Amino acid sequence: MSLRLRLTLLYSTFMGGILLIFGAAVYLLVNVILLNQVDTMLAGVANDITDVTRVNSVGELNVINLPPLDMTSNAYVQVWGLNGKIIATSPSIGMLSKPLDPVGLETHSPIYKDSYLEGARLRVLSVPLVLSGRMIGTLQVGASLGVVDATQGNLISVMALIAVIGVLTAGIGSWVILGRALSPLEDISEAVDQINRADDLSRRIPYHGRTEDEIGDLVISFNQTLERLESLFTSQQRFLADVSHELRTPLTVIKGYMGMIKASPAVQENPMLVQAMDGVIQGTNRLHQIVNSMLDVARLETQVTTPHLEAMTLGPTLRLIQKDYAEDLKARQLTLELDPNINATPPLLADSELMKKVLDNVIVNAIKFTPDGGRITVSAHKVNVPGRGEVCEIRVKDSGIGIDPENHIIIFEKLYQIGKVELHSSGRTKFKGGGPGLGLAIAAGIVKAHQGKIWVESKGYDEVNLPGSTFFIQLPFAK
Ligand code: ADP
Repeated sequence: MSLRLRLTLLYSTFMGGILLIFGAAVYLLVNVILLNQVDTMLAGVANDITDVTRVNSVGELNVINLPPLDMTSNAYVQVWGLNGKIIATSPSIGMLSKPLDPVGLETHSPIYKDSYLEGARLRVLSVPLVLSGRMIGTLQVGASLGVVDATQGNLISVMALIAVIGVLTAGIGSWVILGRALSPLEDISEAVDQINRADDLSRRIPYHGRTEDEIGDLVISFNQTLERLESLFTSQQRFLADVSHELRTPLTVIKGYMGMIKASPAVQENPMLVQAMDGVIQGTNRLHQIVNSMLDVARLETQVTTPHLEAMTLGPTLRLIQKDYAEDLKARQLTLELDPNINATPPLLADSELMKKVLDNVIVNAIKFTPDGGRITVSAHKVNVPGRGEVCEIRVKDSGIGIDPENHIIIFEKLYQIGKVELHSSGRTKFKGGGPGLGLAIAAGIVKAHQGKIWVESKGYDEVNLPGSTFFIQLPFAK
């Protein structure tokens, strides 16, 4: 859930809570005030009636003529004698013979109670009528609570409406305000995303807001970090390029002398020395190859190597690679099949020398990581990429050991070999090509310099079931 949504929900809930507490307080207050008014009215009516109540000579209640009630009071009156005898009732309740509040008849002091009579809710004041310390009857004065209930009902509806409008307004208001407040953060994350995607440390986050607030501080610090990273990265690339370059010359000299020493009669006479020299020459060649690869990477990264773009046909380059590895393939009963559709593919806009390196690296890996007897197929397809139009997609599919999804991106980074980090301890060394982990990094660097794309798809690593891998390379067609 986004921060904006979370804060909006929080503010709306907070607003809802405040309105609920406020509503409950208003409801209770109005309830108390209304009941107080009814109670005061009932007490007034009861007073008026007790003033006119009389007893006869034997101390019994006389039939009383009730005083005319205030028209607005809307009160019901009953005067009860002893033994449940009704002495007087107000005309408003006619012949009703039930007490307004049965419990109130027993009371020895005035009490107010809510009661139900014939489906109506009443507030009833029961007052004991006492003569010389002796109870001679009870006066009950009641009033309908219909108006109070209706007022409370209306109040709840109004409160609920206010709560809904309040919560909605708070929600919409916070959504809009937070959107404005957080938009610089969205810009930052978008810019960081672009930097990551383009793998370009020279970019900076644009920020046009105030520089003295927290977001401004964050942007400035982040841009400073990027600057520092860029300078570290550049010096590392320069160091790599310089070292590789410096190593190449002595290595070439060493290789030359090795050949001479091996050819000398002193060595040739001794088979053990010949074997040792072969080992040294092989190692030196390998070292030379690694240094060359390192130089390739450094030159691509520092943009010393830039592709010389021209119309390039895939067929001849692929057939050349097929020829280069023919012996190897035969020895291991591997098939490297070039799909016939390659010949019909229109020319690409690419540097043929660099692209040969890309295809070579990918195909060499397919050969390395496919067990004997397997099959490698290279094909080319026209695909439509949104925003880029029609591009050529070269697919190199093998029937090898496969690659786990978590390594699909990282294998294109330099000096990365899956086997080295021991993600799979069992049998991995069997397929470790002994390369320095630079082949795919070089391929990715070259493809990037062509504004193309390279990636791999594979179900996972499995040396027994051999799920295989497919490498995809997308490049533009020549116009
Ligand atoms: P290396 O010099 O080791 O070949 P790469 O950069 O060419 O370095 O490849 C990096 C790693 O990616 C390899 O060590 C290997 O583990 C894995 N890999 C590359 N291609 C394949 C493939 N076709 N099948 C299985 N694993 C592969």
